[in-house]
Amino acid sequence: MEFTPIIGLEVHVQLLTKSKLFCGCANFFNPDNPNVQTCPVCLGLPGSLPVMNREALRLSQKTAMALNLNLAHFTKWDRKQYYYPDLPKAYQISQFDLPFSYDGWVEVVLPSTGEVTRVRLIRAHLEEDAGKNIHDESGRGADSKVDLNRTGTPLLEIVTEPDIRSSEQARVFLEELRLLLRYIEVSDCNMQEGSLRCDANVNLHVQENGEAIPTPIVEVKNLNSFRGVEAAVEYEIKRQSKAWQTDHKRLGEVPKETRGWDAERGLTFAQRGKEDAADYRYFPDPDLVPVITTDEQFDEIRATLCVLPATRRTRYVKELGLSVYDAGVIVDQGREFADYFDEVSTVCGDGKQTANWLTQDVQRELNERKIQIGEFAIPAAVLGSVLQRIVNGDITIKSGRDVFTELLTRTDDGKNVSVESVDSIIANKGLGKEQDTGKIDAAIQTVIDNERNAKAVEDVRSGKHQAVGPLIGQVMRDLKGADPGSVRQMIIDKLMS
Ligand code: ZN
Ligand code: MN
Repeated sequence: MEFTPIIGLEVHVQLLTKSKLFCGCANFFNPDNPNVQTCPVCLGLPGSLPVMNREALRLSQKTAMALNLNLAHFTKWDRKQYYYPDLPKAYQISQFDLPFSYDGWVEVVLPSTGEVTRVRLIRAHLEEDAGKNIHDESGRGADSKVDLNRTGTPLLEIVTEPDIRSSEQARVFLEELRLLLRYIEVSDCNMQEGSLRCDANVNLHVQENGEAIPTPIVEVKNLNSFRGVEAAVEYEIKRQSKAWQTDHKRLGEVPKETRGWDAERGLTFAQRGKEDAADYRYFPDPDLVPVITTDEQFDEIRATLCVLPATRRTRYVKELGLSVYDAGVIVDQGREFADYFDEVSTVCGDGKQTANWLTQDVQRELNERKIQIGEFAIPAAVLGSVLQRIVNGDITIKSGRDVFTELLTRTDDGKNVSVESVDSIIANKGLGKEQDTGKIDAAIQTVIDNERNAKAVEDVRSGKHQAVGPLIGQVMRDLKGADPGSVRQMIIDKLMS
């Protein structure tokens, strides 16, 4: 049986605003104190009126810019009617036919093949979140509760075209989306807390008699981990290919099905038939005015965007000569880490040297101290200054490590370190080039004076420069970290003068 999986994702993202979308209630995750972040507006009490939170729209528009979406100058709010205990108004304020953004794309690289793929986006719209029903899962009672702290908080919905062709690509798309949303600081994307949730629409195009036959679309709801998305999509592909072999049902022959994901048992299960848009009876919300955004306002928002992860990866490879792997490692650590990398590499002028230090020495120290780069006590300008001296040949890599260790000792003792600290450490420890040259010079003299080397010394003197090899080796054994090229030149200079 030959088939192509066809996958589209709907991603819901909680925005990092101080207050909710249409009222002044606080917007933060607070499961220990249910039903305290509420007011007549988000409780849906009669006579209350919503007022739009402009910051929520601003963060959404900023996201849309980063996702290559087109932005609408005119957008409006619609009511989506449905009844559920966590939705006290019995409708959700959302966007129906005129979302604030449409037609975008995200580029993702598949780790298994290195293939660069583009996932198109149909739209992103802003809506209010529902509350949370909490069901008794002990099985002993039928005690269900509702927490309305989340009701009315701003939720950005991002809808892809069905461009995704594998469970791996679905996971990587979601990982890239989360990285991007964190770079631009619009959401914490904490999946355990539900700040990033994903629904996957999955069906197959089965090849039969030269025809691609679409099977019924299944929507898997509320996937809240990367592993979950990948496993649920993979499970659905297998389940649907088996279903096709037994029932031969095509798209349109059965209603669209909604399924849940049971992470513990590793399977999807039938939930309910899916409503059509018509079932929701969308109509424009009469309590809210449409929203106009001017070009000037768009420009202001665009000015707050940072350099995005994909752009950084490309720049690190093309301009700084990093490997694709190293560029990925640095960018995937998050914006603060990449910003630190940018500053260090600008100061020292060598991206590869910076990448080596950050992915090895610095990363090791962060792991040992269990801290993030933002808490790392050596400022980027100071580390950059250490690396600059290595790059310029003022100190050896080994001496650079000594300086780095000494800087860490000082910061661990609660002292601040500066570029001047680097100077004083180099002077105090005698690590500078002059001292180094003196040391190398002395080591070379010892090797030349060694009687066992008399033959090799004579050979070099008589012009057989290849005889210098064993002499370099002996000097290097004495002076780990010295540059073999300059040691070679110094031996030859010394013997030929
Ligand atoms: Zn409220
Ligand atoms: Mn939605």
